[in-house]
Amino acid sequence: MISDKSLIIAVDFDGTIVESRYPEIGETKIFAFETLKKLEQEGHRLILWTYRHGKRLQEAVDFCEKNGIKFYAVNQSYPEEEFDPAISRKINADIFIDDRNVGGFLGWGEIYQEITNTKPEHLQISKKKKGLFSFFK
Ligand SMILES: [Mg+2]
Repeated sequence: MISDKSLIIAVDFDGTIVESRYPEIGETKIFAFETLKKLEQEGHRLILWTYRHGKRLQEAVDFCEKNGIKFYAVNQSYPEEEFDPAISRKINADIFIDDRNVGGFLGWGEIYQEITNTKPEHLQISKKKKGLFSFFK
């Protein structure tokens, strides 16, 4: 996949960013926010594309904001888009990230690699260097 192009990436919430516990919010999936932040920093636009609506949707949006992700648009192709039943509900995105993909959920590390064609170096857990006083802990 071409990494130097700015992509519109639609991301599902339940089962994708967090474990599936709808209507509750499950535990964050490993590396979900780290990956989303990195993609955003690299100039891609993120759209939250979820079954959630109303109060449950707001809870998901708030949860993501608390974790450092403010979506370009939520359940729409662009921020100003008005819902119009005369227009298809399918949003315009280059890529969809969803746990219901054929083949299942890849995991965020692999998703990053697939989209950017780059190894997800930012996700590697840093080895702790032992400080001088770590012996006493
Ligand atoms: Mg899902």
